[in-house]
Amino acid sequence: MTSLELLNIRKSYGGTRVLDDVSLEMDDCEFVAFLGPSGSGKSTLLRIIAGLETADAGEVRLAGRRIDQLPPGERNVAMVFQSYALYPHMTVRENMAFGLRNARVPKDEIDARIAQAAEVLEIKDQLDKKPAQMSGGQRQRVAIGRAIVKQPGLFLLDEPLSNLDAALRTRTRVELAQLRRRVAAAVIMVTHDQAEAMTLADRIVVMNERRIQQVGTPMEIYAHPANAFVARFVGSPA
Ligand code: ADP
Ligand code: MG
Repeated sequence: MTSLELLNIRKSYGGTRVLDDVSLEMDDCEFVAFLGPSGSGKSTLLRIIAGLETADAGEVRLAGRRIDQLPPGERNVAMVFQSYALYPHMTVRENMAFGLRNARVPKDEIDARIAQAAEVLEIKDQLDKKPAQMSGGQRQRVAIGRAIVKQPGLFLLDEPLSNLDAALRTRTRVELAQLRRRVAAAVIMVTHDQAEAMTLADRIVVMNERRIQQVGTPMEIYAHPANAFVARFVGSPA
């Protein structure tokens, strides 16, 4: 089933076009990477899908319904920001519970979801710490945990590995692949790292200069790049 449809999305900031004619369909449980250089509009597109920003033209549909006609509580989407955006004055447990309390999820249910996410992410002994007391990698897990407890149908991850050192990045990459199988949700991961996209995604959306350059499986993109930009960016053999 199609979980997400983008139809001719267009967006400008102050007269400068940053997204032009972006269309895409994505299935339930698919893992899609938005791959492109800095400034190609990846984060903007992710914020539009999350409903945090509106497109100037075009439509975003989630499970067939226009996102601008869905109340926030029914959007069934959770976003992990590049900078984590954890609440600094709250403990890990409070960070994870906050959105659920607002959505009036019963307390027992909140506790159960947090316990389960903490188990999966191996942060059980960190729940009473504040973000400042944790390493970057631990904070990243909390940010992912805060998304998991919402039990969304679609995860949006903005450069989830970019703030981690090389060793932790490799480990977290493996964990994301495992996590993806456990949560049974669709995932969009934004990255500028072609190796990350190649190893994690079912399909890659290559972006450059406001537009989608190519959509395909990692093999298709690597073996049959649609143009010179894609070939260069994913390192296809000449
Ligand atoms: P990416 O995530 O691929 O690096 P972004 O979506 O962050 O790209 O940015 C795309 C373009 O839009 C860039 O030129 C950026 O400077 C611009 N941009 C992004 N957000 C804003 C904003 N809130 N106001 C003005 N310009 C923005
Ligand atoms: Mg970005």
